[in-house]
Amino acid sequence: MLYFYKSISPHAIENLNKYLDYFFAQLFANAHPVYDHAHYIEADFNNIVDEYTEQIDNKLEAIFNAYVTLPPNEKLIVHNVYHTNSNILGICNMTVIPIKYTGLPPAIRVQIKSLYDNLWGDNKILGYTQVVNKCGTLKAHFNTFRETNEYSVCPFCGMDCLLCEHDDGRDDYDHYLPKSIYPFITVNFANLFPMCHNCNSKSKGQIDTPFIPATTTQRPLYYPLDNTIADHKINLGIQSANTDLDNPNTWTLHIDCEPAANNLKMESWKQVFNIESRYKATISKESKIWKGWILKKHTTLCKKNGVSYQAFYEDASETFEDYFNIDKGILMKTFYDFILNDPNCENNLNGVI
Ligand SMILES: [Zn+2]
Repeated sequence: MLYFYKSISPHAIENLNKYLDYFFAQLFANAHPVYDHAHYIEADFNNIVDEYTEQIDNKLEAIFNAYVTLPPNEKLIVHNVYHTNSNILGICNMTVIPIKYTGLPPAIRVQIKSLYDNLWGDNKILGYTQVVNKCGTLKAHFNTFRETNEYSVCPFCGMDCLLCEHDDGRDDYDHYLPKSIYPFITVNFANLFPMCHNCNSKSKGQIDTPFIPATTTQRPLYYPLDNTIADHKINLGIQSANTDLDNPNTWTLHIDCEPAANNLKMESWKQVFNIESRYKATISKESKIWKGWILKKHTTLCKKNGVSYQAFYEDASETFEDYFNIDKGILMKTFYDFILNDPNCENNLNGVI
């Protein structure tokens, strides 16, 4: 990914997951032989559970009843899945291996799915009045998140600007590890990140991010809140025999990362978000317009105002330096670098590129 988000944890929206953490911790500790609120429901969660009997209370009780009848080795599996899958940073760095829904004991799968399917979304449990009173709204969380994270573009692609706290709506929250495969982290905000619609719905979808497609081989992932990587950078470069980029099949887009040790994380990012294909398609589509901008700038500065070619070059090169705040800015910068660093650029601009 292009840059990392700053965390706004702790935030009230995390409370729902904390209540569930409490329930499962009590369950795994065999807190009491019978399901009751005194032993299994955190005090702060009680009025929510009382209010939404069918949606929450009955579903927690169903999980309890399924769990207590499991043999000890299967109880251990449920415990292990819960704790392993909650370690999202560890999964991204491959210090732990995530366990899929299908790895849960069959006798408890349906009960877990039934609870978690109801949790996510404005119109589901997270949007219910009593839950909002304890957790706030997704929009309120989004506003604080966007105020804290000042760059405009989606960090996963750099092509679309995200909405901001002043907009009526909000961007999609992506389950970085899909909730359909890892249901326990459905409302874990270490797994939920604002993302542009094209990345979330059109590119990523339900991809099982921690694994190489169609294999059981785990792969490393960038963790979207990882601010431990010093000097992280994605570099792009166009390689082409000429400046006509209309056809994406006639030129190459080179992509690498700094530090180079994160190359495998970068490769996962490229695959999950279909980066190379999207970038090449956009550059090919826009290249004529972007060439026109360079030509116009050259005409205005050099031909009309007598500015030196060197001054024009420096001015044009700096146009998209702030590319995390400009839609497609990283691609426009890459295109400008390609055109301006062509040894024939000055001659071409004095004729036609
Ligand atoms: Zn995006």
